[in-house]
Amino acid sequence: MNKLVEGTFLRSAVARRVFFLFLLSAFVPAAMLAALSYGHVRAVVGDYTQRQLAQAGSAHARALYDRLLGAHFILNANVAQIRRGTNVEDTTSIALTRVFRRTYLVAHDQTVLRFGAPLGEDPPPIDARAASHLAKGELALLMPPGRPVGPPWLAVAIDPAQVADGVLIAQLEPAYLWGDSDEISYQTDICVLAEGAVLLYCSSDELGATASRVASHRANGHPASADGWLSATSGLFLKAKFGADDWTIVALRPGSLAIASLTQLAQTYLGVTLLTLLLVALLSVVQIRRTLVPLERLIEGTQRIARENFEQPVAVERDDEFGQLARSLNGMARRVGQQLGALRALSEIDQEILSHLDIEQIVVLVQARLLALLPQAVIGVVLLDDRSADLGTAYLQRATDAQPTKVALQLDPQKLAHCVRYRDGAWLPVDGPDVPRFVAMLAGLGAAHCFVIPIFWRDEICGALGIGVVDQQEVNNGLIEQARDLGKRVGVAFAALAREAELVLRAHHDDLTGLPNRALLSERLQQELARARRTGKQLALLFLDLDRFKSVNDTLGHDGGDQLLRVAAERLSACVRECDTVARLGGDEFVVLLTGLDNPQQAAKLAGQVLAVLSEPFQVAGSKCFIGASIGVSVFPADGSSAEELLKQADIAMYRAKAAGRGRFVFFEESMNVDQRERAVMEQELHLAIMRNQFAVHYQPRVDLRDGRLLGAEALLRWNHPVLGSVSPAIFIPLAEDAGLIESIGPWVLRQVCAQLAAWQAAGYAVGTVAVNVSGRQFRSDDLVAQVTHALESTGLAPHVLELEVTEGVLIDDVESVIDVLGRLKQIGVSVALDDFGTGYSSMAYLRRLPIDVLKIDQSFVRDLAHAEDARNMVQAIIAMAHALHKSVVAEGVETLVQANLLRSWGCNQAQGFYFSRPVTAAALEALMEKTLVLSDDTNAMARI
Ligand code: C2E
Ligand code: MG
Ligand code: MG
Repeated sequence: MNKLVEGTFLRSAVARRVFFLFLLSAFVPAAMLAALSYGHVRAVVGDYTQRQLAQAGSAHARALYDRLLGAHFILNANVAQIRRGTNVEDTTSIALTRVFRRTYLVAHDQTVLRFGAPLGEDPPPIDARAASHLAKGELALLMPPGRPVGPPWLAVAIDPAQVADGVLIAQLEPAYLWGDSDEISYQTDICVLAEGAVLLYCSSDELGATASRVASHRANGHPASADGWLSATSGLFLKAKFGADDWTIVALRPGSLAIASLTQLAQTYLGVTLLTLLLVALLSVVQIRRTLVPLERLIEGTQRIARENFEQPVAVERDDEFGQLARSLNGMARRVGQQLGALRALSEIDQEILSHLDIEQIVVLVQARLLALLPQAVIGVVLLDDRSADLGTAYLQRATDAQPTKVALQLDPQKLAHCVRYRDGAWLPVDGPDVPRFVAMLAGLGAAHCFVIPIFWRDEICGALGIGVVDQQEVNNGLIEQARDLGKRVGVAFAALAREAELVLRAHHDDLTGLPNRALLSERLQQELARARRTGKQLALLFLDLDRFKSVNDTLGHDGGDQLLRVAAERLSACVRECDTVARLGGDEFVVLLTGLDNPQQAAKLAGQVLAVLSEPFQVAGSKCFIGASIGVSVFPADGSSAEELLKQADIAMYRAKAAGRGRFVFFEESMNVDQRERAVMEQELHLAIMRNQFAVHYQPRVDLRDGRLLGAEALLRWNHPVLGSVSPAIFIPLAEDAGLIESIGPWVLRQVCAQLAAWQAAGYAVGTVAVNVSGRQFRSDDLVAQVTHALESTGLAPHVLELEVTEGVLIDDVESVIDVLGRLKQIGVSVALDDFGTGYSSMAYLRRLPIDVLKIDQSFVRDLAHAEDARNMVQAIIAMAHALHKSVVAEGVETLVQANLLRSWGCNQAQGFYFSRPVTAAALEALMEKTLVLSDDTNAMARI
C-alpha cells in the first residue's frame, strides 16, 4: 500500500483527482443523508416525546380527576350517613381514612374534627363561590391558604338548603390524591399547579420552579420546553364539578434524554459515514490501482517506443480494455520495430550505394538484417559475374558466423532462366537432381527448406537471395516481403554499379573512337610521370594532327569524317605497344603517350611509323582518301616535368611540323617556346594595329616580259610597328588568321586598294591590273564575294582592274565550293590568280576545272633557275601547261636579268621581282607608272631585262 501510494498514487494527478472525487461523491450524499436523517429523527423524537408527555400529563389529569371523584363519592356517602344520623366516628371507614387526612364538620361557627389529627389550623374558609356551589348540593374543592399550599380540601353541605348548618370538610390525603409516583411514566415527572402557577404537587421536588415557568410560558403562548426540559401541559377542569379553579398538570422530561438518543444516532451516523468513506477510499485505491498500474505500464511502453525500444512488450495480462490496448500497443510496437528495422537496413544499404557502392558490404548488410529477423536461418546471396553469365559468387552467412563464406560458383544458365519465372520468389526443394548449387550449399549449412528470391537488374537476373530454414513455418510473409525489398536494393546497387562503370568509361573515353579522352590521358600521364621519375626512364608525347582532314569532312560529310577518324584511331592503336596510350583530344587531334623509353630516338622511330600508317590511303564511304599527319614530339624529362607542360610543348612542335610543310614530325625545341611567346605578344599588338593606323599597302609592279611595260602591280600589306619596324606579312598574316583578325584586315586591304585604284583612274593613270592577296581563311569565309562587291561599289571601281590572288592551299578544301566562289568572283568581273604555284598539291585535274586566269610561279623555282635544271624544267612545264589551259603566267621573285631572260624565252608573259622593282608606296608607283609609260615607247627598255 505504501509503495502503491508512493509509486502510483501520489505521483499521478489522475489518481489523486479520482481518489478525491470518489471520496467526495461518497462523503457528500452520506453526510447529507446523515444530516437530514438526524434532523428528521430529532424532529420525530421531539414530537414523540412531546406526545408522550402530553399523554402522560392528560392520563395523570384523568387519574387525578378520578381520584377527586372517588373522594367526592366517599365524602358524599359520609354526608349521607350523617344525614341519617349515623355517628361520625362509626362511619369513619377505611375508605375515608385512606382518602382523607382529616375531616371536620363545620356548623354555625363550630368546627368539629371528626376524623384525623388536627392540623393546628382551621380548615379553609368557605368562600361565596364555594358556598353557592355547596348550595347546589355539589362538592366544593377548597384550597388551603398560605404557601406552600398544603393538600386541597373537599367540602359538602350536610343540607344543601342550609349550607350554614353544616358542612363536612375534609382534607385530601396527598398520597391518595397525587397517587403513586411509580404510576408516572418512566423518566417523566408530573407537577400539578393551581391557578396562578401555584404549585400543588410535583413528583420531583426540584422541578417545582421549572413546572411553574413552563405553566406561565404556556399561558403566555411560548414553546413547551425550558431549562433543558421537555414539557407538556394538560388542564384539569374543576369549575363545574368542584367549583374551584382549574388545575394545570405539567408533564416534564429532561431534554438531555432525547438528545442522548440522538447523540447516539449521530455517532452511529458518523461511524457509518466514516466507514463508508473508508470503504470508498479503499475501493477507489484498489480501482485506481487497477487502472493506473496498467496505464503506467502503457505509458512506459509508449515511452519505450518513442526511444525506439521495440523489444520489451507492455506486460498487461488482462481481458479488459487495458489488456486489449496493451496487446494492440505490443502488436503495433512489433510492427513498427520491424518496419523501422527494415527502413534502417534499407537506408544503410542506400547510404552504402551512394557512398562506397561496395557490393560485398551491401550483401553483408542484407544478411545482417535478415539474420536479425530470423537468427536461426542461413542467408545466402549469389551474385552473377558481370562479365560472364554463368559465373557467380555466393555469400553464405549464419548468425554464428563472423564473416560470410564466399564461394565462386559455376551457374547453369538454364536454371537461371527457370528462376526468372519466380519473380516474387519461391520455395525450392533442397535435395534432388535439379537442385541449384546455391540452394544445395544452403542445405549443406543445415537448411531443410529454402526460399529463393531472384534479384533483377533491367529485367535480367543478376543474382538471388536465399533464406534457408529448418521449418518452413519460421518464414512469414512479413519476412519474405522484407527479403524482396532487400533483394531489390541489391538490384539497385547493381544498376548503380553498372551506371557508375558506364559513367567512368564515358567520362574517360571518347565516344567516337573509344580511345581514352583528355581526362584519362592526363590521369595516365600523371601516373606515368610518377613512374618515370621512380624508374629513371623517359617518356614521350606525340601530339598528332591529321593533315587535310577538313577537306575529307567537307567532301564526304561528317559521317565520312567520323569513319576516317575511327580507322585512324585503329591504325594508331595498332602501332603502339600495350603499355602505351593513344588518346583523342577532339577533332582530328590525337596524342600518343610512349612510356619506358631509354632515348628520344625510340619516340622518333614510332612517330615515323605512325606517319607511315596514316599516309596509307583511307577507304571511306567508297572513296579513297589520302590524308597524313603532322606530329609534334615532347620528351620527359628534357622538355618539361609536368603533364601540362609536356602537352603544350608537343602541341607547339606539332604546329611547327604543320608550318614546316605537314606530313612530318618535329621534336620540340626551346626556341619554339620563344616563338610561341612572341606570337602571343604579336597577336595582341595586331589587335591594335588597324586602330592605330599602322597598316599601309605597298605595290610591287608587274611588267610585261616582252617589253618591260608596267601591266599592273601586286598589293602587299605592310605593318609599320613603332618598335618592331616593318613586320613582314609572311609573319603577321598567319597570326591574323589564327587570331581571327583577318576578317577585318582583309576587307580593309580590299577597300584601300580599290580606293587607290579609283583615285588613280580618276587621275588618269593607266595602272593596269592590281592584285590583292586573299588568305585561305578569308577565302573560305562566306562573305568574300560580298566584301569584294562592297569594296568595288563603295569606290566605284571597274571590276576588271582588280585581281584576287589565292594560294594553292585553298584548293585542298572542298573543290566544288572553291569553284563556286571563284565562279561568283568572275561573275563580278574580277580576275583570279593562283599564287605560289608549284609549292602545294594542285592536281592538274583540278586546275583544269578551276576558273583561274593567272598562274603565279612561286619564287622558289625562279630563284633556282640559274643553277637547278629541275627548276628550269618545272618552270618550263608550268608555263606550257598554263598556256595549254589558256591561262596567263606570272613569274614571281625575278631578281636577275638571267632569270628574266630565261622566263621570257620560255614564253612567260609577266614578271615581278626586285629586278624590276621592290614593293613601293602608292606614290612611288605613280612615278613608276609615268616612267614605265615613258619606257613603254623606249626600245631600251628591254635592255634592262
Ligand atoms: P606573295 O603573294 O607571294 O608575295 C610576294 C612576296 O615576295 C612579297 O613578300 C614580296 O615582297 C616578295 N618579293 C617580290 N619580289 C621579290 C624578289 O625579287 N626577291 C624576293 N626574295 N622576294 C620578292 P611580302 O611582301 O613579304 O609578302 C609575303 C606574303 O604575304 C605574300 O606572298 C602574300 O602571300 C602575303 N601577303 C602580303 N600582303 C598580303 C595581303 O594584303 N593579304 C594577304 N592575305 N596576304 C598578303
Ligand atoms: Mg601574292
Ligand atoms: Mg607569291
